[in-house]
Amino acid sequence: MTPLTPLTPQEGAAVKAADRAHVFHSWSAQKLIDPLAVAGAEGSYFWDYDGNRFLDFSSQLVNTNIGHQHPKVVAAIQEQAGRLCTLAPGFAVDVRSEAARLIAERTPGDLDKVFFTNGGAEAVENAVRMARLHTGRQKVLSTYRSYHGATATAINLTGDPRRWPSDTASAGIVHFWGPFLYRSPFHATTEAEECERALRHLEDTIAFEGPQSIAAIILETVPGTAGIMVPPAGYLAGVREICDRYGIVFVLDEVMAGFGRTGKWFAADHWGVTPDLLTFAKGVNSGYVPLGGVAISAAIAETFDTRPYPGGLTYSGHPLACAAAVATITTMAEEGIVEHAAHLGENVIGPALADIAERHPSVGEVRGLGAFWAVELVRDKETREPLVPYNAAGADNAPMAEFATACKKSGLWPFVNMNRLHVVPACNITEAEAKEGLAILDEALAVADRHTTAAG
Ligand code: PMP
Repeated sequence: MTPLTPLTPQEGAAVKAADRAHVFHSWSAQKLIDPLAVAGAEGSYFWDYDGNRFLDFSSQLVNTNIGHQHPKVVAAIQEQAGRLCTLAPGFAVDVRSEAARLIAERTPGDLDKVFFTNGGAEAVENAVRMARLHTGRQKVLSTYRSYHGATATAINLTGDPRRWPSDTASAGIVHFWGPFLYRSPFHATTEAEECERALRHLEDTIAFEGPQSIAAIILETVPGTAGIMVPPAGYLAGVREICDRYGIVFVLDEVMAGFGRTGKWFAADHWGVTPDLLTFAKGVNSGYVPLGGVAISAAIAETFDTRPYPGGLTYSGHPLACAAAVATITTMAEEGIVEHAAHLGENVIGPALADIAERHPSVGEVRGLGAFWAVELVRDKETREPLVPYNAAGADNAPMAEFATACKKSGLWPFVNMNRLHVVPACNITEAEAKEGLAILDEALAVADRHTTAAG
C-alpha cells in the first residue's frame, strides 16, 4: 500500500487550505465542515497525509463495490485513455456497446436496452421522462423514506427530509408509505401483515389519485440511504401486479442496491421481479468514472423506435466510464465478488450485527443483506425513540457525531445517516477486514449506549 504521492502533513494542510478557500461542498453549511484531506486509497482502505489509515465501511456513499483502485479497472481506464477519451453519444463505440451488452445480460427480464447517464439522479430524471412519454400520463408515485437524487425531479421524488428545502416543483409527484415493519406506518406486527397493508394503502392511493393519470411508481428495491429496509416477501410482486393492472410503469431504482451490493447482481433478483425501467449508477463501475443509466424494457424501448426520444447528455456513455464498467463487471464475475457479498451478509456481517444488537442497548434493530446493512440506533429499545431526531443537525446530532468520531479514532470510516449506522463496505472486503471493522463498531457503540435511557 505505497502511496503514489509523497505524504507530508504540510502537503495535507495545503490541500485542505485550497479546499476551504475554493471548494463548495454538497449538503453542507460551508463553514461548519472540516473535510479530511485524503492522500490515497487501495482495496478497503484510504489514508490521510498524517499517516492515518481508515478501513472504509462507507464505500464512498455505497459506491466502490469493487474496492479502491482495483488494478484491473485502473488499467482499463488507462488503456482507454490512450485509445479514445471521448466521442459524442451518437456514435457506436466498442466499450459503450460492450458495457450495454454486459448490463443488459445481467438485468432481469427483457430490460435489454440501456440509456447511459452520468449518475443516479439523471437516470431517475430520464426514467420518469420515459414513463411519462410512454404512457401519456403525468403523475409519479414514490415512497416516503426514499432517496432518488438531487436534481429537480429526483429530489422531489425523494421521500425523506432531504426533499424539504428543495420542495418547489413537486406538481404531479405523490408520496405514499412503503413497508417498514420496525416503524410500521400501518401499525402492523408481522411482515405478512405489513406487506398486505402496504399494498392496500398503495391501491387506495392510486384509487384516489386516479389510475388513468399515473405514469409511474418508482421504488428503491431496497431503500438505501433512507434506512436499508428490506421489503417483505410478496411486496414487490404485489406492486408489479398493481402496475400491470392499471398500465402504470414500474421503475425500480437500483442506483445503490445494484451491481452486487445485496449479494445478487440486482436486488430485484431476490424476489424474481422485473420492473419496466431499472435505474443504476455507482456499482456499475464502482464510481471510478461517473456513470449511470436506465435499463429499458422492450415495450418502452419500442415507443421510441420511430418517435425520437427527447433527451440526451453530452457525456452519455462516456468511453472512459464505459471502459471502467466493462472492467468492473468482468472482474466482479471473474472474482466471484457478488457471491462473496452474499457470503459476507449470511456468514459474517449479518451474524456479527445480530450479536451486537443483543448486547447494546442503543441498537434497536439491524437489517440488511449482502454488504448492505443498517444498524438503527435508539434511545430506548422499548419505545424505539431514535437516538437523534430525524434530520438532526448541529447539537441535536451530537450522539451520532460522537459515535462516528470514536470509530474514526480506531481506524474505521463509518457511514452515519440520521440515527443509523450503515454497514456498507466494499463487496470484496476480506472476511478478516470485515471482522476487524465490526469489532471496532462493537467497541464504539459503547459511546451510543451512554446516550440511552438504559444508561440512566
Ligand atoms: N437513487 C438512489 C437509490 C441513490 O442512492 C442515489 C444516490 N445516493 C441516487 C439515486 C442519486 O444518485 P447520484 O448521486 O449519482 O445522482
